[in-house]
Amino acid sequence: MQNTFSNWSGSVVFHPKEILYPTTEQEIIDIVHRALNNKKKIRIVGSAHSFTRLVETDNTLLSLDNYNGIIHVDKDKKLITVKAGTKIKAFGEMAFGYGFAQENLGDIDAQSLAGSISTGTHGTGLNFGNISSQLYAIKFINGKGETVYCSEDENKELLKAAQVSLGSLGIITELTFKVQEAYKLSFVSKNENIQDVFAQLDKHNIENRNFEFYWFPYTDVAQTKYSNISQEEAVENKLGLWYDNLMENHLFNAISYPTRYIPSLSKYVAKISGALAGTSSKVNWSHRVYALPRTVLFNEMEYCVPIESFSAVKKELIRVFNQKKFHVHFPTENRFVKADDIMISASYKLTSAYISFHVYKGKAYQEYFKTMEEICSHYEGRPHWGKMHNKEAKDFANMYERWNDFLEIRKVHDPENIFVSEYTKKLFGI
Ligand SMILES: Cc1cc2nc3c(=O)[nH]c(=O)nc-3n(C[C@H](O)[C@H](O)[C@H](O)COP(=O)(O)OP(=O)(O)OC[C@H]3O[C@@H](n4cnc5c(N)ncnc54)[C@H](O)[C@@H]3O)c2cc1C
Repeated sequence: MQNTFSNWSGSVVFHPKEILYPTTEQEIIDIVHRALNNKKKIRIVGSAHSFTRLVETDNTLLSLDNYNGIIHVDKDKKLITVKAGTKIKAFGEMAFGYGFAQENLGDIDAQSLAGSISTGTHGTGLNFGNISSQLYAIKFINGKGETVYCSEDENKELLKAAQVSLGSLGIITELTFKVQEAYKLSFVSKNENIQDVFAQLDKHNIENRNFEFYWFPYTDVAQTKYSNISQEEAVENKLGLWYDNLMENHLFNAISYPTRYIPSLSKYVAKISGALAGTSSKVNWSHRVYALPRTVLFNEMEYCVPIESFSAVKKELIRVFNQKKFHVHFPTENRFVKADDIMISASYKLTSAYISFHVYKGKAYQEYFKTMEEICSHYEGRPHWGKMHNKEAKDFANMYERWNDFLEIRKVHDPENIFVSEYTKKLFGI
Protein backbone atom coordinates (compact mmCIF):
# COMPACT_ATOMS: atom_id res chain seq x y z
CA MET A 1 0.00 0.00 0.00
CA GLN A 2 1.24 3.52 -0.82
CA ASN A 3 2.48 5.62 2.13
CA THR A 4 1.07 9.12 2.39
CA PHE A 5 2.85 11.62 4.59
CA SER A 6 1.92 15.21 5.42
CA ASN A 7 3.50 18.03 7.36
CA TRP A 8 1.65 19.74 10.25
CA SER A 9 -0.21 22.31 8.16
CA GLY A 10 -0.93 19.93 5.28
CA SER A 11 0.93 22.18 2.83
CA VAL A 12 3.39 19.38 1.97
CA VAL A 13 1.96 15.95 1.11
CA PHE A 14 4.08 13.20 -0.42
CA HIS A 15 4.45 9.44 -0.85
CA PRO A 16 7.68 8.00 0.55
CA LYS A 17 8.53 4.51 -0.65
CA GLU A 18 9.15 3.45 2.94
CA ILE A 19 9.07 5.01 6.42
CA LEU A 20 11.62 3.58 8.84
CA TYR A 21 11.69 3.87 12.64
CA PRO A 22 15.10 2.55 13.81
CA THR A 23 15.59 1.86 17.52
CA THR A 24 19.39 1.49 17.70
CA GLU A 25 22.41 3.35 16.34
CA GLN A 26 23.52 0.19 14.49
CA GLU A 27 20.18 0.06 12.65
CA ILE A 28 20.67 3.68 11.59
CA ILE A 29 24.16 2.92 10.29
CA ASP A 30 22.83 -0.12 8.39
CA ILE A 31 20.12 2.02 6.77
CA VAL A 32 22.76 4.45 5.49
CA HIS A 33 24.93 1.59 4.11
CA ARG A 34 21.92 0.07 2.40
CA ALA A 35 21.08 3.42 0.78
CA LEU A 36 24.69 3.77 -0.38
CA ASN A 37 24.80 0.26 -1.84
CA ASN A 38 21.45 0.65 -3.60
CA LYS A 39 22.07 4.28 -4.65
CA LYS A 40 18.94 5.37 -2.79
CA LYS A 41 18.05 8.60 -1.00
CA ILE A 42 17.06 9.27 2.63
CA ARG A 43 15.28 12.25 4.20
CA ILE A 44 14.94 12.51 7.96
CA VAL A 45 11.78 13.71 9.67
CA GLY A 46 11.31 15.00 13.22
CA SER A 47 7.72 16.02 14.05
CA ALA A 48 7.01 17.32 10.49
CA HIS A 49 6.30 20.82 11.85
CA SER A 50 8.28 22.61 9.13
CA PHE A 51 6.24 24.45 6.51
CA THR A 52 8.96 24.11 3.84
CA ARG A 53 9.48 20.91 1.80
CA LEU A 54 12.47 19.84 3.90
CA VAL A 55 11.31 16.32 4.76
CA GLU A 56 9.74 15.48 1.39
CA THR A 57 11.02 12.39 -0.45
CA ASP A 58 9.71 9.68 -2.75
CA ASN A 59 12.34 7.34 -1.31
CA THR A 60 13.20 6.48 2.31
CA LEU A 61 11.80 8.65 5.09
CA LEU A 62 13.56 8.03 8.41
CA SER A 63 12.04 8.96 11.75
CA LEU A 64 13.73 8.81 15.16
CA ASP A 65 10.38 8.69 17.00
CA ASN A 66 11.50 5.36 18.51
CA TYR A 67 14.96 6.66 19.37
CA ASN A 68 14.45 8.86 22.39
CA GLY A 69 15.36 9.41 26.05
CA ILE A 70 18.20 10.77 28.14
CA ILE A 71 21.59 9.06 27.76
CA HIS A 72 23.75 10.90 30.28
CA VAL A 73 23.54 13.75 32.78
CA ASP A 74 26.72 15.55 33.88
CA LYS A 75 25.45 17.46 36.92
CA ASP A 76 28.71 19.32 37.54
CA LYS A 77 29.12 20.59 33.98
CA LYS A 78 25.33 21.02 33.56
CA LEU A 79 25.32 18.96 30.35
CA ILE A 80 22.59 16.54 29.29
CA THR A 81 23.07 14.10 26.40
CA VAL A 82 19.82 12.94 24.85
CA LYS A 83 18.75 10.79 21.90
CA ALA A 84 17.89 13.09 19.02
CA GLY A 85 14.35 11.83 18.39
CA THR A 86 13.19 12.99 21.84
CA LYS A 87 10.44 15.63 21.69
CA ILE A 88 10.98 19.03 23.31
CA LYS A 89 8.08 18.49 25.73
CA ALA A 90 9.35 15.10 26.91
CA PHE A 91 12.90 16.45 27.27
CA GLY A 92 11.59 19.32 29.42
CA GLU A 93 9.97 16.93 31.88
CA MET A 94 12.95 14.52 31.90
CA ALA A 95 15.49 17.31 32.46
CA PHE A 96 13.25 18.74 35.21
CA GLY A 97 13.47 15.35 36.93
CA TYR A 98 17.21 16.00 37.28
CA GLY A 99 16.65 19.62 38.39
CA PHE A 100 17.55 21.19 35.02
CA ALA A 101 15.87 23.15 32.21
CA GLN A 102 16.64 24.59 28.77
CA GLU A 103 17.47 28.31 28.95
CA ASN A 104 14.81 29.28 26.39
CA LEU A 105 12.24 27.72 24.06
CA GLY A 106 9.82 28.59 21.25
CA ASP A 107 6.05 28.77 21.56
CA ILE A 108 5.24 25.08 21.01
CA ASP A 109 6.97 21.95 22.31
CA ALA A 110 5.80 19.28 19.86
CA GLN A 111 8.97 19.30 17.75
CA SER A 112 11.73 16.72 18.03
CA LEU A 113 14.99 18.05 19.45
CA ALA A 114 16.94 17.25 16.25
CA GLY A 115 14.24 18.76 14.03
CA SER A 116 14.03 21.92 16.11
CA ILE A 117 17.76 22.63 16.03
CA SER A 118 18.13 21.68 12.36
CA THR A 119 16.16 24.75 11.17
CA GLY A 120 17.28 27.20 13.89
CA THR A 121 14.07 27.17 15.95
CA HIS A 122 14.04 30.05 18.44
CA GLY A 123 12.01 31.70 21.18
CA THR A 124 12.27 35.31 22.29
CA GLY A 125 14.59 37.21 24.65
CA LEU A 126 17.62 39.28 23.68
CA ASN A 127 19.89 37.45 26.12
CA PHE A 128 19.27 34.10 24.46
CA GLY A 129 20.24 32.59 21.13
CA ASN A 130 18.15 30.03 19.25
CA ILE A 131 17.82 26.45 20.55
CA SER A 132 20.82 25.32 18.43
CA SER A 133 23.01 27.72 20.42
CA GLN A 134 22.25 25.70 23.59
CA LEU A 135 24.22 22.75 22.18
CA TYR A 136 27.58 21.63 23.47
CA ALA A 137 27.91 18.58 21.20
CA ILE A 138 26.28 16.69 18.33
CA LYS A 139 26.74 13.09 17.18
CA PHE A 140 25.57 12.02 13.73
CA ILE A 141 25.83 9.24 11.16
CA ASN A 142 27.08 10.84 7.97
CA GLY A 143 26.43 9.92 4.34
CA LYS A 144 29.35 7.47 4.36
CA GLY A 145 27.88 5.54 7.29
CA GLU A 146 30.51 6.93 9.70
CA THR A 147 29.75 7.95 13.27
CA VAL A 148 30.88 11.57 13.69
CA TYR A 149 31.19 13.55 16.95
CA CYS A 150 31.71 17.28 17.25
CA SER A 151 31.61 19.59 20.25
CA GLU A 152 32.77 22.98 21.49
CA ASP A 153 36.08 21.30 22.42
CA GLU A 154 36.48 18.83 19.54
CA ASN A 155 35.82 19.56 15.81
CA LYS A 156 34.27 22.92 16.67
CA GLU A 157 34.13 23.98 13.01
CA LEU A 158 31.97 20.94 12.26
CA LEU A 159 29.74 21.72 15.25
CA LYS A 160 29.11 25.20 13.79
CA ALA A 161 27.94 23.55 10.55
CA ALA A 162 25.88 20.81 12.23
CA GLN A 163 24.00 23.06 14.66
CA VAL A 164 21.69 24.23 11.83
CA SER A 165 22.06 21.76 8.96
CA LEU A 166 18.60 20.96 7.49
CA GLY A 167 19.13 17.19 7.64
CA SER A 168 21.90 17.50 5.06
CA LEU A 169 25.06 16.32 6.87
CA GLY A 170 23.64 13.08 8.21
CA ILE A 171 21.29 11.56 10.74
CA ILE A 172 21.73 13.31 14.07
CA THR A 173 21.55 10.63 16.76
CA GLU A 174 22.63 12.42 19.95
CA LEU A 175 22.57 15.99 21.22
CA THR A 176 24.33 17.35 24.30
CA PHE A 177 22.63 20.43 25.71
CA LYS A 178 24.08 23.02 28.09
CA VAL A 179 21.30 23.32 30.64
CA GLN A 180 20.44 25.56 33.58
CA GLU A 181 19.14 24.82 37.03
CA ALA A 182 15.35 24.54 36.81
CA TYR A 183 13.66 27.96 37.16
CA LYS A 184 10.16 29.35 37.36
CA LEU A 185 8.75 32.00 35.05
CA SER A 186 6.03 34.49 35.70
CA PHE A 187 4.14 35.09 32.44
CA VAL A 188 1.82 38.04 31.73
CA SER A 189 -0.11 38.77 28.53
CA LYS A 190 -1.60 42.25 27.95
CA ASN A 191 -3.60 44.16 25.38
CA GLU A 192 -1.75 47.40 24.46
CA ASN A 193 -1.60 50.08 21.78
CA ILE A 194 0.90 49.33 18.99
CA GLN A 195 2.33 52.89 19.04
CA ASP A 196 3.02 52.57 22.79
CA VAL A 197 4.78 49.28 22.14
CA PHE A 198 7.00 50.85 19.47
CA ALA A 199 7.84 53.72 21.86
CA GLN A 200 8.75 51.29 24.68
CA LEU A 201 10.41 48.57 22.61
CA ASP A 202 13.97 48.90 23.94
CA LYS A 203 12.70 49.23 27.51
CA HIS A 204 10.53 46.09 27.19
CA ASN A 205 13.45 44.14 25.75
CA ILE A 206 15.86 45.30 28.46
CA GLU A 207 13.55 45.03 31.45
CA ASN A 208 12.06 41.63 30.65
CA ARG A 209 13.70 38.24 30.28
CA ASN A 210 11.40 37.28 27.41
CA PHE A 211 9.35 39.86 25.56
CA GLU A 212 7.31 39.51 22.38
CA PHE A 213 4.24 41.04 20.83
CA TYR A 214 1.58 40.32 18.20
CA TRP A 215 0.06 43.01 16.00
CA PHE A 216 -3.55 42.48 14.86
CA PRO A 217 -4.13 43.64 11.26
CA TYR A 218 -6.71 46.41 10.69
CA THR A 219 -6.23 47.57 14.30
CA ASP A 220 -3.85 49.42 16.62
CA VAL A 221 -3.88 46.47 19.00
CA ALA A 222 -0.74 44.73 20.16
CA GLN A 223 -0.97 41.69 22.41
CA THR A 224 2.21 41.76 24.48
CA LYS A 225 3.74 38.82 26.35
CA TYR A 226 6.28 39.20 29.16
CA SER A 227 8.07 36.43 31.10
CA ASN A 228 10.43 36.91 34.03
CA ILE A 229 12.13 34.71 36.64
CA SER A 230 9.89 34.14 39.63
CA GLN A 231 10.32 32.66 43.10
CA GLU A 232 6.56 32.47 43.66
CA GLU A 233 4.55 29.30 44.02
CA ALA A 234 3.58 27.77 40.68
CA VAL A 235 0.00 28.96 40.08
CA GLU A 236 -1.95 29.13 36.92
CA ASN A 237 -4.58 31.77 36.32
CA LYS A 238 -6.88 28.98 35.16
CA LEU A 239 -9.66 31.31 34.07
CA GLY A 240 -7.21 33.49 32.09
CA LEU A 241 -5.58 30.46 30.49
CA TRP A 242 -8.94 28.92 29.69
CA TYR A 243 -9.97 32.25 28.16
CA ASP A 244 -6.75 32.50 26.11
CA ASN A 245 -7.09 28.92 24.93
CA LEU A 246 -10.71 29.57 24.03
CA MET A 247 -9.75 32.76 22.19
CA GLU A 248 -6.50 31.64 20.57
CA ASN A 249 -7.78 28.20 19.58
CA HIS A 250 -11.47 27.23 19.75
CA LEU A 251 -13.24 30.55 19.27
CA PHE A 252 -10.50 31.79 16.95
CA ASN A 253 -10.97 28.72 14.78
CA ALA A 254 -14.74 29.16 14.75
CA ILE A 255 -14.55 32.79 13.63
CA SER A 256 -11.67 32.07 11.22
CA TYR A 257 -13.53 29.36 9.34
CA PRO A 258 -15.94 31.59 7.37
CA THR A 259 -13.00 33.70 6.07
CA ARG A 260 -11.91 30.69 4.02
CA TYR A 261 -15.07 31.09 1.95
CA ILE A 262 -15.67 34.84 2.34
CA PRO A 263 -12.14 36.31 2.55
CA SER A 264 -13.44 39.88 2.87
CA LEU A 265 -14.63 38.97 6.40
CA SER A 266 -10.96 38.82 7.48
CA LYS A 267 -10.94 42.49 8.44
CA TYR A 268 -13.83 42.05 10.90
CA VAL A 269 -12.40 38.85 12.34
CA ALA A 270 -9.06 40.62 12.90
CA LYS A 271 -10.83 43.44 14.74
CA ILE A 272 -12.84 41.07 16.93
CA SER A 273 -9.73 39.01 17.71
CA GLY A 274 -7.74 42.14 18.58
CA ALA A 275 -10.48 43.44 20.86
CA LEU A 276 -10.74 40.12 22.70
CA ALA A 277 -7.01 39.31 22.86
CA GLY A 278 -6.69 37.84 26.34
CA THR A 279 -5.15 39.14 29.49
CA SER A 280 -3.76 36.18 31.33
CA SER A 281 -0.99 35.33 33.75
CA LYS A 282 0.68 32.29 35.23
CA VAL A 283 3.69 31.27 37.28
CA ASN A 284 5.16 27.86 36.57
CA TRP A 285 8.35 25.92 35.87
CA SER A 286 9.83 27.32 32.68
CA HIS A 287 9.29 24.30 30.40
CA ARG A 288 5.56 24.46 31.22
CA VAL A 289 5.35 28.18 30.47
CA TYR A 290 6.93 28.72 27.04
CA ALA A 291 4.65 26.48 24.99
CA LEU A 292 1.00 27.14 24.20
CA PRO A 293 -1.46 24.78 22.57
CA ARG A 294 -1.78 25.50 18.82
CA THR A 295 -4.81 23.74 17.38
CA VAL A 296 -5.76 26.20 14.64
CA LEU A 297 -3.92 25.19 11.46
CA PHE A 298 -2.12 27.87 9.44
CA ASN A 299 0.72 28.42 6.98
CA GLU A 300 3.62 30.60 8.00
CA MET A 301 6.55 32.65 6.77
CA GLU A 302 9.08 34.17 9.19
CA TYR A 303 11.89 36.63 8.52
CA CYS A 304 14.81 37.61 10.69
CA VAL A 305 15.96 41.24 10.32
CA PRO A 306 18.67 43.23 12.13
CA ILE A 307 17.18 44.57 15.35
CA GLU A 308 18.25 48.13 14.49
CA SER A 309 15.93 48.00 11.47
CA PHE A 310 13.01 46.42 13.30
CA SER A 311 10.83 49.49 13.90
CA ALA A 312 11.38 50.75 10.34
CA VAL A 313 10.58 47.33 8.82
CA LYS A 314 7.55 46.81 11.00
CA LYS A 315 6.11 50.24 10.27
CA GLU A 316 6.65 49.67 6.53
CA LEU A 317 4.97 46.25 6.75
CA ILE A 318 1.97 47.80 8.50
CA ARG A 319 1.82 50.67 5.99
CA VAL A 320 1.83 48.31 3.00
CA PHE A 321 -0.62 45.95 4.70
CA ASN A 322 -3.05 48.82 5.26
CA GLN A 323 -2.64 49.91 1.65
CA LYS A 324 -3.10 46.45 0.08
CA LYS A 325 -5.72 45.30 2.60
CA PHE A 326 -4.80 41.62 2.40
CA HIS A 327 -7.53 39.19 3.43
CA VAL A 328 -5.54 38.17 6.50
CA HIS A 329 -6.76 38.16 10.09
CA PHE A 330 -3.96 36.34 11.93
CA PRO A 331 -1.74 38.69 13.93
CA THR A 332 1.95 39.00 13.04
CA GLU A 333 4.31 37.78 15.77
CA ASN A 334 7.46 39.72 16.75
CA ARG A 335 10.34 38.20 18.70
CA PHE A 336 13.90 39.16 19.61
CA VAL A 337 16.96 36.85 19.66
CA LYS A 338 20.66 37.11 20.48
CA ALA A 339 23.27 36.81 17.68
CA ASP A 340 25.14 33.48 17.29
CA ASP A 341 28.12 32.02 15.43
CA ILE A 342 26.39 29.10 13.66
CA MET A 343 27.25 29.04 9.93
CA ILE A 344 23.78 29.13 8.41
CA SER A 345 21.68 30.23 11.38
CA ALA A 346 19.42 33.17 10.48
CA SER A 347 20.85 34.90 13.57
CA TYR A 348 24.48 34.46 12.44
CA LYS A 349 26.30 37.55 13.75
CA LEU A 350 22.95 39.33 13.92
CA THR A 351 21.11 40.63 16.96
CA SER A 352 17.79 39.60 15.53
CA ALA A 353 14.16 40.62 15.31
CA TYR A 354 11.97 37.85 13.91
CA ILE A 355 8.65 38.73 12.26
CA SER A 356 6.17 35.90 11.53
CA PHE A 357 3.29 36.05 9.07
CA HIS A 358 0.49 33.51 9.47
CA VAL A 359 -2.43 32.70 7.19
CA TYR A 360 -5.34 30.45 8.14
CA LYS A 361 -5.10 27.04 6.45
CA GLY A 362 -7.14 26.89 3.24
CA LYS A 363 -6.68 30.58 2.40
CA ALA A 364 -4.34 32.01 -0.24
CA TYR A 365 -1.06 33.18 1.28
CA GLN A 366 1.26 33.55 -1.76
CA GLU A 367 0.75 37.24 -2.59
CA TYR A 368 0.74 38.33 1.07
CA PHE A 369 3.93 36.40 1.86
CA LYS A 370 5.67 37.61 -1.32
CA THR A 371 4.86 41.27 -0.60
CA MET A 372 5.97 41.04 3.02
CA GLU A 373 9.07 39.06 1.98
CA GLU A 374 10.14 41.81 -0.45
CA ILE A 375 10.02 44.37 2.37
CA CYS A 376 11.98 42.13 4.77
CA SER A 377 14.53 41.36 2.03
CA HIS A 378 15.02 45.07 1.44
CA TYR A 379 16.21 45.28 5.07
CA GLU A 380 18.63 42.33 4.65
CA GLY A 381 16.16 39.84 6.09
CA ARG A 382 16.92 36.11 6.24
CA PRO A 383 14.10 33.53 6.15
CA HIS A 384 13.53 30.93 8.86
CA TRP A 385 14.58 27.61 7.28
CA GLY A 386 11.45 25.80 8.49
CA LYS A 387 8.96 28.40 7.26
CA MET A 388 7.78 29.33 3.77
CA HIS A 389 9.95 31.60 1.62
CA ASN A 390 10.95 32.07 -2.02
CA LYS A 391 14.73 32.18 -1.66
CA GLU A 392 17.28 29.86 -3.25
CA ALA A 393 21.01 29.12 -3.38
CA LYS A 394 22.18 32.39 -4.96
CA ASP A 395 20.27 34.43 -2.35
CA PHE A 396 21.75 32.42 0.54
CA ALA A 397 25.25 32.85 -0.87
CA ASN A 398 24.76 36.62 -0.44
CA MET A 399 23.11 36.34 2.96
CA TYR A 400 25.60 34.04 4.68
CA GLU A 401 29.28 34.88 4.96
CA ARG A 402 30.04 31.17 5.66
CA TRP A 403 27.70 29.69 3.04
CA ASN A 404 30.50 28.11 0.97
CA ASP A 405 32.17 26.69 4.10
CA PHE A 406 28.88 25.01 4.96
CA LEU A 407 28.53 23.62 1.42
CA GLU A 408 32.08 22.23 1.57
CA ILE A 409 31.39 20.48 4.86
CA ARG A 410 28.14 19.09 3.45
CA LYS A 411 30.05 17.62 0.51
CA VAL A 412 32.62 15.97 2.78
CA HIS A 413 29.92 14.31 4.88
CA ASP A 414 27.51 13.41 2.09
CA PRO A 415 29.71 12.87 -0.98
CA GLU A 416 27.14 10.58 -2.65
CA ASN A 417 24.30 13.08 -1.98
CA ILE A 418 22.14 10.45 -0.28
CA PHE A 419 20.50 13.13 1.92
CA VAL A 420 19.85 15.48 -1.03
CA SER A 421 16.26 15.94 -2.26
CA GLU A 422 14.75 17.96 -5.10
CA TYR A 423 13.99 20.71 -2.58
CA THR A 424 17.44 20.84 -0.94
CA LYS A 425 19.07 20.79 -4.41
CA LYS A 426 17.49 24.20 -4.97
CA LEU A 427 18.58 25.45 -1.54
CA PHE A 428 22.19 24.36 -2.03
CA GLY A 429 22.48 24.96 -5.79
CA ILE A 430 23.47 21.34 -6.47
C1 LIG B 1 2.51 25.41 15.26
C2 LIG B 1 3.98 25.69 15.02
C3 LIG B 1 4.66 26.50 15.91
C4 LIG B 1 6.02 26.78 15.69
N1 LIG B 1 6.67 27.60 16.57
C5 LIG B 1 7.96 27.94 16.33
C6 LIG B 1 8.65 28.82 17.21
O1 LIG B 1 8.14 29.26 18.23
N2 LIG B 1 9.92 29.18 16.87
C7 LIG B 1 10.53 28.74 15.72
O2 LIG B 1 11.66 29.14 15.46
N3 LIG B 1 9.93 27.85 14.92
C8 LIG B 1 8.66 27.44 15.20
N4 LIG B 1 8.04 26.55 14.36
C9 LIG B 1 8.84 25.91 13.30
C10 LIG B 1 9.47 24.59 13.79
O3 LIG B 1 10.03 24.73 15.07
C11 LIG B 1 10.58 24.14 12.84
O4 LIG B 1 10.10 24.01 11.54
C12 LIG B 1 11.24 22.84 13.31
O5 LIG B 1 12.33 22.55 12.47
C13 LIG B 1 10.26 21.68 13.31
O6 LIG B 1 10.80 20.60 14.05
P1 LIG B 1 10.38 19.12 13.69
O7 LIG B 1 10.86 18.20 14.75
O8 LIG B 1 8.97 19.06 13.32
O9 LIG B 1 11.30 18.87 12.39
P2 LIG B 1 10.87 18.56 10.90
O10 LIG B 1 10.03 19.66 10.39
O11 LIG B 1 10.35 17.19 10.80
O12 LIG B 1 12.31 18.63 10.19
C14 LIG B 1 13.02 19.84 10.14
C15 LIG B 1 14.42 19.59 9.62
O13 LIG B 1 15.14 18.81 10.56
C16 LIG B 1 15.73 17.69 9.92
N5 LIG B 1 15.82 16.62 10.90
C17 LIG B 1 14.86 16.14 11.72
N6 LIG B 1 15.36 15.16 12.50
C18 LIG B 1 16.66 15.02 12.16
C19 LIG B 1 17.72 14.17 12.60
N7 LIG B 1 17.56 13.25 13.55
N8 LIG B 1 18.94 14.31 12.01
C20 LIG B 1 19.15 15.23 11.04
N9 LIG B 1 18.19 16.05 10.60
C21 LIG B 1 16.97 15.94 11.15
C22 LIG B 1 14.79 17.39 8.77
O14 LIG B 1 15.41 16.62 7.76
C23 LIG B 1 14.46 18.79 8.30
O15 LIG B 1 15.47 19.27 7.48
C24 LIG B 1 6.71 26.22 14.56
C25 LIG B 1 6.01 25.37 13.68
C26 LIG B 1 4.65 25.10 13.92
C27 LIG B 1 3.92 24.19 12.97
